[in-house]
Amino acid sequence: MWNKEIETMSRKDMQALQLRRLQATVKRVYNKVPFYRKKLDEAGITPDSIKTLEDIKKIPFTVKDDLRDNYPFGLFAVPMKNIVRIHASSGTTGKPTTVGYTAADLDMWSECVARLATMAGATADDTAQIAFGYGLFTGAFGLHYGLEKIGATVIPMSSGNTEKQIMIMQDYKSTILVSTPSYALYMAEVMEDLGVKKSDICLKVGLFGAEGSTEEMRAELEKRWGIIATENYGMSELIGPGVSGECIHKTGMHINEDFFIPEIINSETGEVLPEGEFGELVITTVSKEGIPLLRYRTKDITCLMYEPCPCGRTSVRMHKIQGRTDDMLIIRGVNVFPTQVESVLLGIEHISPHYQLVVTKNGYIDELKVVVELEDSSLLDSFSRLESLEKHIRHKLHVVLGIDAKVQLAEPKTIERSVGKAKRVIDLRGEKQK
Ligand code: ADP
Ligand code: ZN
Repeated sequence: MWNKEIETMSRKDMQALQLRRLQATVKRVYNKVPFYRKKLDEAGITPDSIKTLEDIKKIPFTVKDDLRDNYPFGLFAVPMKNIVRIHASSGTTGKPTTVGYTAADLDMWSECVARLATMAGATADDTAQIAFGYGLFTGAFGLHYGLEKIGATVIPMSSGNTEKQIMIMQDYKSTILVSTPSYALYMAEVMEDLGVKKSDICLKVGLFGAEGSTEEMRAELEKRWGIIATENYGMSELIGPGVSGECIHKTGMHINEDFFIPEIINSETGEVLPEGEFGELVITTVSKEGIPLLRYRTKDITCLMYEPCPCGRTSVRMHKIQGRTDDMLIIRGVNVFPTQVESVLLGIEHISPHYQLVVTKNGYIDELKVVVELEDSSLLDSFSRLESLEKHIRHKLHVVLGIDAKVQLAEPKTIERSVGKAKRVIDLRGEKQK
């Protein structure tokens, strides 16, 4: 363990620590950030209102639009001279939001990543190849400093230049790969195309994150690379990667609760849900200085698990993200998450793990088309086999999604590969159809 005292703390002690930090955070933002002062005043809350952890429920939510409305630095709680780093969200769902870090925030961030890397099995003996893009995006810098902190040798490759990634991986004997799951999959494909075998490389562990993926995708990555694939979670608004991460038991992602208080809410009513129920993850940061966030709605759907983990850590764990509320497609009134489609497709033979969902409107009716890539060209000259494959996929999708989707089989390697976050949904419903 990287920080045994914190990572194995009793629930009672953790809650006491969280309460102290929560009270201090509310007091700080009330005094330093006009946005919060106004919001808390309107809700009739002062710092003294927070007497127990339960009182967190009295605090109004903060949402992404609050960051957008105060773009770029309006929610910062310290003067700019104390800010030593700026990052921004990737802008997956609109205008990017900006965040600032004090020196203490950077230390806290490295601590979080050091913990998640250690729990995934990384040590000072490892060589970590960082294939997240360096830049305003938090992924690369976050993993970079955390892995350096544990003493690993860091290779700041950045994303892209995939053939070179494979060469460096062989030459420098990388043992850890840091990337999105979709990029790791693409890299595996390039490795195979280059005739490099997994036995030619030394990779042991994958630290994957920044986008959703399924257990089926994990199995695929573990098989193709011959590694243990672990997952970690975070978002720029909260710190970047390091909010939570999986240990080698892969029982969900351990949350760094001394810095982040999690809650799960019903995203329609805002009501806090009981343990074990799925809903939107809400996080309050309790030690951040640059841009503390109270009850921030992440839009990510998960649940919290408090049962003990075989690794001995006592922290609460979050389930794999089922989807972002933004990503959820409503097709003819039925909710569909891209991850459900991924689970189906990855269990079917003869198709590759690359896919795309295209949504259109035919008059008033939503139509979902799933574009699926053939694994190789062997089926291409048999119409009947193609037809039966298509039928089979359509049937499986129907069973899981409960709606009828069109299936389009695409030739091998025709769906665009991503080197960062994969774009899996193309929603054309807002656009004019021919
Ligand atoms: P953006 O919201 O523009 O993509 P970020 O780069 O800050 O900006 O990414 C944060 C988002 O990435 C999270 O809200 C979440 O949807 C997604 N994400 C990060 N890690 C994971 C993960 N392990 N599983 C699923 N989604 C993840
Ligand atoms: Zn564990």
